[in-house]
Amino acid sequence: MVLESCPKCSHRLGPPLKSSGRQVCMKCGWSNRPRKAATPTQNPPQKDLSPIEIQKILAQATEKSVHNMKPRHKRNSGEGGDPPQDDGPSIDDLLNPRSK
Ligand SMILES: [Zn+2]
Repeated sequence: MVLESCPKCSHRLGPPLKSSGRQVCMKCGWSNRPRKAATPTQNPPQKDLSPIEIQKILAQATEKSVHNMKPRHKRNSGEGGDPPQDDGPSIDDLLNPRSK
């Protein structure tokens, strides 16, 4: 399909390009084939997380895990003996009441 004049501005069109077969209006830029169809669309791949961001996430995760582990560690270490607070004032509390 060869057009002699631009359907948009009626400007006279030259012969279609031999390479792509496109007809481009030199006046308004109209073309019978959009450029996107002629050239493959290049969608930039989604960027992976930058090393800095990964380190941030890892740091946050480590911080959370440390926070979660702290109470458990205390409980584990306290097992085997009754906590002094439940039985009443400990020896240290009796000797130094103002220490706490
Ligand atoms: Zn035109």
